[in-house]
Amino acid sequence: MKKRFTQTKSLQNTLSRYQAQVIIPHCRRCLKPCCNLTEVVLDFDWRRLVPFYQIDLGQHAFDRSLRDGSGPAHIRKQDDRYYAHGSPCPAYNSSQRRCNYYQSSAKPSNCSDFPIYLDGLSIVADKRCEAVNETDLLDTLTRIFTGRRFNMHTNRQLPQLVYIDM
Ligand code: SF4
Ligand code: SF4
Repeated sequence: MKKRFTQTKSLQNTLSRYQAQVIIPHCRRCLKPCCNLTEVVLDFDWRRLVPFYQIDLGQHAFDRSLRDGSGPAHIRKQDDRYYAHGSPCPAYNSSQRRCNYYQSSAKPSNCSDFPIYLDGLSIVADKRCEAVNETDLLDTLTRIFTGRRFNMHTNRQLPQLVYIDM
């Protein structure tokens, strides 16, 4: 149990460093910024959605507006979650190409995970981000975790996702 925890922590730290050193520096010159939400979907509960999109309706009225089409077309509700897609994120400063909520707790957690994150002990690299180079990531992991064998494969249903298992 402790070994698995240490392994997860160590992988997590490696991925955070990789995001900071390889992915984030590319964001300023990215041709398809994920924050435009053309490819990527943001996921909220009601409590977080309200301040993020500055909603001045109660939840029932807002849900009704989504059902009758008078609400924002880029927000959908499924079960008790809200999904935003197809319109730039309101926290995205497109002229400076940066997130106004960077390092703030208001930032949705799936933003921090994108495009490289851990799923159990599998590393997932999302190729919707143009800075993702899975071969380079695999080389980096092999160099850092000397003696470990890694296996890379693509998700059949979602080919944009590449898995690297240890
Ligand atoms: S898609 Fe990748 S490179 Fe582009 S802005 Fe998002 S994280 Fe940065
Ligand atoms: S919260 Fe920030 S990182 Fe997340 S989509 Fe919006 S601008 Fe991008």
